Amino acid sequence: MAAKKKQGPMDVIVALAKRRGFVMPTSEIYGGIGSSYDYGPLGIEMKRNISNLWWKEMVHKHDNIVGIDSAIIYHPKTWEASGHVDGFVDPLVDCKQCKTRFKADDLIEHVKNAKGVDEAPLNPAGDSLNADHPSYAQVPCPNCGNRGTLTPPRSFNLMFKTFMGPVEDSSNVVYLRPETAQGIYVDYPQVLNVSRVRPPFGIAQIGKAFRNEITPGNFIFRTREFEQMEMQYFIEPGKDLEAMEYWKEARMSFWRDTIGIKPENLRFHEHSSTELAHYAKSAFDIEYNFPMGWSEFEGIHNRTDFDLTRHQEYSGKDLRFFDDRTRERYIPYIVETSAGLNRGLLATLLDAYDEDEVDGQTRVVLRLDPKVAPITAAVFPLTKKDGLPEAALDIYKDLKRDFNIFYDETGNIGRRYRRQDEAGTPFCFTVDYQTLDDGTVTIRDRDTLEQAERLKPEDLAGILFNKLRS
Ligand code: ATP
Repeated sequence: MAAKKKQGPMDVIVALAKRRGFVMPTSEIYGGIGSSYDYGPLGIEMKRNISNLWWKEMVHKHDNIVGIDSAIIYHPKTWEASGHVDGFVDPLVDCKQCKTRFKADDLIEHVKNAKGVDEAPLNPAGDSLNADHPSYAQVPCPNCGNRGTLTPPRSFNLMFKTFMGPVEDSSNVVYLRPETAQGIYVDYPQVLNVSRVRPPFGIAQIGKAFRNEITPGNFIFRTREFEQMEMQYFIEPGKDLEAMEYWKEARMSFWRDTIGIKPENLRFHEHSSTELAHYAKSAFDIEYNFPMGWSEFEGIHNRTDFDLTRHQEYSGKDLRFFDDRTRERYIPYIVETSAGLNRGLLATLLDAYDEDEVDGQTRVVLRLDPKVAPITAAVFPLTKKDGLPEAALDIYKDLKRDFNIFYDETGNIGRRYRRQDEAGTPFCFTVDYQTLDDGTVTIRDRDTLEQAERLKPEDLAGILFNKLRS
């Protein structure tokens, strides 16, 4: 018999996510659609926990940050001002023979290493393809191997386009937003009018963004529809470096200390001058050690006064801030923190996954922080008889008023614990025969497996509340 192939952690997480209803392929009865995913009963709880913790951290814990929830479809001029209509493009190369489509950037390594090519057809900086170079025609297609079949790179805009209203003509073209940030910039004057904020202050929002990605993949790492958690911090010019330092540390600490990702799996990546986006003066990614390698899941960007200057120009509205103390007007600088909720959730799931040996059997356990775990506690009666379910249901109903609690009375107790371990549930309360005598229940800890302590039902809510504080 062939040796069993050891699955990589991504395969294991994809399988667990589907089996337990964290993340499932969308419209599966029709065979699914190009890397779109749905969040099931456990996944949505976890996703909401992460986004609620983010909101609490950014908006509620900072006196000078307010939230908004803007529309997904903005005035189309927004995207001209932001540079997305002209600049949000990926150059693509098609093979005329096998019809495979490649991102030009992904072909750079290929052309450097291709056999039978006189000289790599790259532009002088070495970071983009040069289709006018004589050896471009010698490059074999990475898929079918034919030479001379690759087209020159052609631009492809990543924004999803649609029409507003019944008439499908160019004057009605609108876009699904490819980032939530622009909604904040265009709302900035209204937020200034309705709240008492003044620089330094932030505006936060969580919402869907859409990008017609050419190469989606790695499960929910890169999809065409995803959620961002973004905060734009408006500051006086010159205060940007200080703000960058503050937000770099604050955002790293959020993922490490609040969400509980292991520090050794997190790092910063500073953008080099060739990586920097057109609007950015400096940029740091927070990267996670994903199975496919270190990759970004949040960016902290010094966007200078680029965005508001452009919106001022395109809208014709004065977007300067009037400082009544100095009597001066200026366009605020912006430091942005832009996190992907889905990528953050994927990193958290991968990081929490563990297997250990319990009673001679492999136990799958998600060591999620209680604040992130989809179910905070499970309540079990030891058996289905002798009034134990009734006593357990009383506890369950009481705790359910404040927490997400799961009740289960079916099957053997060991199996019930294992199912909760796999869902990441940090605590199980079990009602047994002693409960009928003195009212106390056991508490089982998912990670230590200790179960010696007995607690009074009236203390349970307080214990859980303390575990969920951040
Ligand atoms: P990448 O280089 O991976 O395409 P990006 O640099 O374009 O990402 P940003 O525009 O800075 O990403 O977006 C901020 C965050 O939004 C990213 O760190 C990521 O977590 C999330 N994000 C961006 N694109 C996607 C996508 N296609 N699917 C899921 N999340 C995404």
